[in-house]
Amino acid sequence: MANTTLKKNTATNIFIPKRVFIEPAALEYELGRRLRDRFRSEGIPVTVTGAHNRVTGIPGKTAQEAFMEAKRTLVVGIRRGKEFQTCKPSAHYQLPLVTSCPGKCEYCYLLTNLGKKPYLRVYVNIEEILDRAKSYIKERLPGETVFEGAATSDPIPVERYTGALRQIIEFFGRQEHARFRFVTKFTDVDSLLDAKHNGRTRFRFSLNAEPVIKNFEHGTPSMQERAAAAGKVAGAGYPLGFLVAPIILYDGWQQGYSELFQELDRVLDPLSRQDLTFEFITHRFTRRAKNNINEIFPHSRLDMDEEKRQFKYGQFGYGKYVYPKESLAEVKEHMENLVNRYFPAARVEYLV
Ligand code: SF4
Repeated sequence: MANTTLKKNTATNIFIPKRVFIEPAALEYELGRRLRDRFRSEGIPVTVTGAHNRVTGIPGKTAQEAFMEAKRTLVVGIRRGKEFQTCKPSAHYQLPLVTSCPGKCEYCYLLTNLGKKPYLRVYVNIEEILDRAKSYIKERLPGETVFEGAATSDPIPVERYTGALRQIIEFFGRQEHARFRFVTKFTDVDSLLDAKHNGRTRFRFSLNAEPVIKNFEHGTPSMQERAAAAGKVAGAGYPLGFLVAPIILYDGWQQGYSELFQELDRVLDPLSRQDLTFEFITHRFTRRAKNNINEIFPHSRLDMDEEKRQFKYGQFGYGKYVYPKESLAEVKEHMENLVNRYFPAARVEYLV
């Protein structure tokens, strides 16, 4: 086990914040007031604070402590910026909905992107965000506009409190010229099963071989639990997708990923296999990510030996360490074989 202080405990995968901060402006919205009252009635400390991106009061003397405390902190705010970030190549825009996630995966890209205190943040001005989405959709007519709902977060753990994802799924269910997609590692999906999605939201699960989940993720459901949740979502008629990432080449990886596919084969009904997508991302890291990971998870066994990797220059002047060409070719062959064998009608969107 990589870090003994972070044992996997699937019973605690439900996110319960330890403290909540609310921006004053969020209290002008019904959802903001509802969240304040709910958390207070549950005995969770709620503090009305300044702007959501200037949160002070998250404890933590060391980087590790600050990280762990931030992962149990929820900030309720409003989104002020009018523009959405672009999200190429998989979607046109990010839909700003939630930031961060209570999971503590050692390889999480948010370790690099969200700074030292990656607290969770939800927005309560959902109608305004959706109005902006409508104007983006209009600008691209008669083309279709695709929005990604999980570019900087996992939106499922806070859904039990906000109901925002359901509202957004139903919004896209009513759009003729737009689609929505998001990805999750979590399984608390029941409240979304009867949402009127009209097939316009692709519900994706981020999965991995069980040994990878056990060794490098903390506070996330097991592979079997995620596969079972995917089975439920497929049963509810959502177009389904799987993001297998990061693929890690540990001893016996072929078997681990084969078992993942066997499990998916076991839980998916025939209909859901007709419109199924796969995305595959092999493990990679930047120097900066490696330093952050070593700071937060000093006992990590994540293999980040630069000597065994190939250096690939990146877009913004910093490069990343990827598996060498020969290993990537092996991964490609193995994953394509698995898709062809178990889900021949599925579409592989990319393998990098
Ligand atoms: Fe990061 Fe996803 Fe793990 Fe959350 S579940 S910590 S977003 S990798």
